[in-house]
Amino acid sequence: MRQLLVVGNWKMNGSRASINTLLGDLVSAPAIAGPEVAVCPAYVHLPQVLELCAVSAIGVGAQDCSHMQSGAYTGEVAAPMLAELGCRWVILGHSERRQYHSESDELVAAKVAVAVAAGLQPIVCVGETREQREAGEAEQVVSAQLEGALRGQVSLDSLVVAYEPVWAIGTGLTATPQQAQDMHECIRSCLEGIAGVDADATRVLYGGSVKADNAAQLFAQPDIDGALVGGAALKAADFLAIISAAAA
Ligand code: PEP
Repeated sequence: MRQLLVVGNWKMNGSRASINTLLGDLVSAPAIAGPEVAVCPAYVHLPQVLELCAVSAIGVGAQDCSHMQSGAYTGEVAAPMLAELGCRWVILGHSERRQYHSESDELVAAKVAVAVAAGLQPIVCVGETREQREAGEAEQVVSAQLEGALRGQVSLDSLVVAYEPVWAIGTGLTATPQQAQDMHECIRSCLEGIAGVDADATRVLYGGSVKADNAAQLFAQPDIDGALVGGAALKAADFLAIISAAAA
């Protein structure tokens, strides 16, 4: 039985003041039993968020890490630095990284390797564009991204996958529960063929305009094990409603 996981990806949003308010509301909300919950703020906000979350069950992660362990990589942040700070999770291969920073599957694979070696749990994002879906290539694209990021890794016990169709991110468009379930099933069967992955135990999250009013239907699908939430994670009431849907 996989425990549902709800992760908030705050992207490049927030200030010290707004984070105090948001996390104050999340931390003081009555504990919701069932799903595991995490938030991923910008790097500079990690110490503040880690301190505020220390009194709660909310885990903390980063939105990216370097593909290198350490060294002359100006502007980068290494996985061991995140682990030392107290992060548990790291989002890797997000479509915004692939789009704006030309991240390839090879680069994502290198990041997965350093993240796992540092003891972080990688949340590896995959997803097709609208054009790829319309061309009937969605499953092929997503399987290739998974293979590229995961094949040959030494250890993938802590792996989480997030299926995020690019056309659904921040657009208000959501994959229907059936479209999402079909892709999650495809992802799970692809994971079965990758050495070192326990496909049955690996959580596969859905991401892409998840909101309070569509979360329950998504979570009702047998292969959807939670959500990676962008916009709706920035308001406590909206995020809490999604967490409640995961607990139902
Ligand atoms: C995301 O960027 O990971 C995401 C799912 O964003 P949104 O929920 O805003 O579509």
